[in-house]
Amino acid sequence: MDKWCEAKTQVTLETAKIKIGGLFLSYKMSKRIIILVVFLAFLPGWIFAGRNDQYVVVLSMDGFRWDYSTIYHTPNLDRIARRGAKVVSLMSAYPSKTFPNHYSIATGLYPDHHGIIQNNFFDPLIDRSFRMSDRSAVEDSVFWEGEAIWETAGMQGLRTASYFWVGSESNERYHPHDRKLFQSGFPYLQQMDTVMYWLSRPEELRPRLIMFYFDQPDLVSHEYGPISPETREVVERLDSLVGVLDKRLKREARKLKININLVILSDHGMGHIPEGNRVFLDDILDLDRVKRINGGNPVIMLEPESGYLEEAYQKLSQANHLKVWKREAMPPHYHYGTHRRIAQLIVEADSSWGVEINHRKRKDGREFTYGRGAHGYDPTNLDMHGIFYAKGPVFRRKYVQPTFENVSIYGLLAQILGLKPAPNDGNFDAVKGMLRKF
Ligand SMILES: [Zn+2]
Repeated sequence: MDKWCEAKTQVTLETAKIKIGGLFLSYKMSKRIIILVVFLAFLPGWIFAGRNDQYVVVLSMDGFRWDYSTIYHTPNLDRIARRGAKVVSLMSAYPSKTFPNHYSIATGLYPDHHGIIQNNFFDPLIDRSFRMSDRSAVEDSVFWEGEAIWETAGMQGLRTASYFWVGSESNERYHPHDRKLFQSGFPYLQQMDTVMYWLSRPEELRPRLIMFYFDQPDLVSHEYGPISPETREVVERLDSLVGVLDKRLKREARKLKININLVILSDHGMGHIPEGNRVFLDDILDLDRVKRINGGNPVIMLEPESGYLEEAYQKLSQANHLKVWKREAMPPHYHYGTHRRIAQLIVEADSSWGVEINHRKRKDGREFTYGRGAHGYDPTNLDMHGIFYAKGPVFRRKYVQPTFENVSIYGLLAQILGLKPAPNDGNFDAVKGMLRKF
């Protein structure tokens, strides 16, 4: 091909019109589009995710009831509510227990869908028990279903950290980049120091999402009840810590010129059980004919031996201050009963009542004294509701959101961090009112 001919061919190709999707585009333009499409197709997904510059710090205070701020002196939470958003009350998932709910917050799934259906349970498929105090179970990913927010973030290129968050300790699955394995009684201020250290690191090592956990006021209110001088003392101390955290985050955000959002929430509330309001299952059933008992006051799961199911169900149905369901007949708003780990019968004490497996005696022969507080009841029972406060660049100020379910928090966090959420049970419409346009 001579020079003229070569040049003519080039001109012809450059000026030719090519029909793509009903549009006539020049060859030059279409070549650019093809190159762009190929380029985009081979880009890793994380290029598109986390495209904003928001940081989120989530603190869970176990068992902090929705109305403590009206009963006790909580000036720091009140200030966060004025400068940010709060929900009237945060509805737990059923059962309103610690492990199921922290993992519902992390995954946006009801316990029936994420598999942590109680603080302790038996899985018939793998023939293994799960207990929250059993490290080998807690660290085994076989028990943890669904996709937690740190997995969503990690797969889309965002760094995360967890300090004692339920579900973040399993070893084989995608876990937070930085994490601390649970130790009870660990000093809260020391946890806070580590959170601040994580934030102070260079940008490439700084987690965009940090989730951390305080085990109070759950412990004290289990023992003394939600309305007690002991619970007051702990709630007010926690409020002071919230004030310290808020100030330190504000200072760090200013120093590093980054957008830090603070979310303070709880997994459930706490109900009061007056002295003597107890039902004992061994007064009602022949427990020798029950193969397995899981859960704990006020929600107990029973697996009767074959031939005893109907009789046990009838006896429990006639007992006072208890409700009993076969797992396939749970109330629809419980969103509970399909997971294989849920036993055949679910027993729940009435509100303000407790249910125990058997009478317990102390070493001196006297009756064991049970705690004055419990949680685990129907999620629509207001005593079971927790808190949700949020403050920072993405949140509206002085905004009060009507009650929503904690399964909606996963989608909210994903939205703030610019992540594509996994399918979940949450309702973004129920939480989006708290957000500014950002
Ligand atoms: Zn809890």
